[in-house]
Amino acid sequence: MGAQQVRQGFVDLYGAEPEGVWSAPGRVNLIGEHTDYNDGFVMPFALPHVATAAVSRRDDGVLRLHSADVEGGVAELRLDALAPQTDRSWTAYPAGVVWALREAGHAVTGADIHLASTVPTGAGLSSSAALEVVIALALDDLFELGLKRWQLARLCQRAENVYVGAPTGIMDQTASACCERGHALFLDTRDLSQKQIPLDLAAEGMRLLVVDTQVKHAHSDGEYGKRRAGCEKGAALLGVDALRDIPYDGLDAALARLGDDDEVIRLVRHVVTEDQRVEHAVALLESGETRAIGQVLTAGHASLRDDFRISCPELDLVVDTALAGGALGARMTGGGFGGSAIVLAEASDVETLTKSIESAFATAGFTTPRVFEAVPSAGALRVS
Ligand code: ADP
Ligand code: MG
Repeated sequence: MGAQQVRQGFVDLYGAEPEGVWSAPGRVNLIGEHTDYNDGFVMPFALPHVATAAVSRRDDGVLRLHSADVEGGVAELRLDALAPQTDRSWTAYPAGVVWALREAGHAVTGADIHLASTVPTGAGLSSSAALEVVIALALDDLFELGLKRWQLARLCQRAENVYVGAPTGIMDQTASACCERGHALFLDTRDLSQKQIPLDLAAEGMRLLVVDTQVKHAHSDGEYGKRRAGCEKGAALLGVDALRDIPYDGLDAALARLGDDDEVIRLVRHVVTEDQRVEHAVALLESGETRAIGQVLTAGHASLRDDFRISCPELDLVVDTALAGGALGARMTGGGFGGSAIVLAEASDVETLTKSIESAFATAGFTTPRVFEAVPSAGALRVS
């Protein structure tokens, strides 16, 4: 849905023009999975899919929320009644952002909000961060809070962790707030330092496909929590603040110190090798060896499948089929147990690869996946 439609939707609902319209994208993570809560490296880029919000200020302590994508009317909340983990519906995301801003001492006095999003939900493409960041940016603009992009991302993460109650790292919100068109974002999640890495796959005759398996396996939230706890255990056993502090060339020594705790050994090995893969991919992109990142992606998948153990038959089938069909590289992306995979391929192979993935899914009796091309797009911005 375009900005004009969202603006019109606002007028229809609230009977007046909004003060402005903002958008914030979903993201796909090129490499660096489950490293963000280990203070490590990630390299996402923004999708062309965005959450768009039309917003006006209010001064009476009322927050009105409406999403074109959800059944039901306008939700009306009182700002002084907002409290963490009291709301199980989608409104917890935008309300959580308002709560986090006010908790941090920012004078947000109320708002009317209407939004719509083209980011698929629950596909591992971060529709939740798009939703949070678009609201944070709109309120920052309207209430002239003067917050930096990384600060908005932190507040959105706090909204999701504390208010919604979902334990997530900082990658998704930072990607949505800070990515730039034509670039991937190399992000150090410890200090949030960033580097924009030019990524123009089309110019080099390549494409990056996102394959949304449309699968979300049950218990994925609990499994995320278990992996996170296991990583923290590993860091504690090794006497470091976070697994980020284990250097790649010290990995074998570190693993030896973990004795026979097989689970922690696998988790630590994934995180430490994944950080190294991000740095390797950055080096390859910066030296113009773009095709070579394919192998790095594929190695990342093996590590997520075998060491972190968060893949699933659908994701493995995408990766195996793509590689058998000549893709440069492929891996699952996002939290795991469903969601999406990415495939790096020569442009000339895209049609054949897409067909073979679809037919492999049909043969296996899986739901037809949604396949689309991902082009590094702009981060959050004011649209009108
Ligand atoms: P992901 O971020 O991977 O898409 P999450 O479970 O983190 O998945 O977030 C999805 C949730 O975000 C949805 O269940 C819904 O509550 C909220 N959400 C996302 N997009 C919208 C939208 N357009 N309208 C209302 N709620 C949305
Ligand atoms: Mg999310």
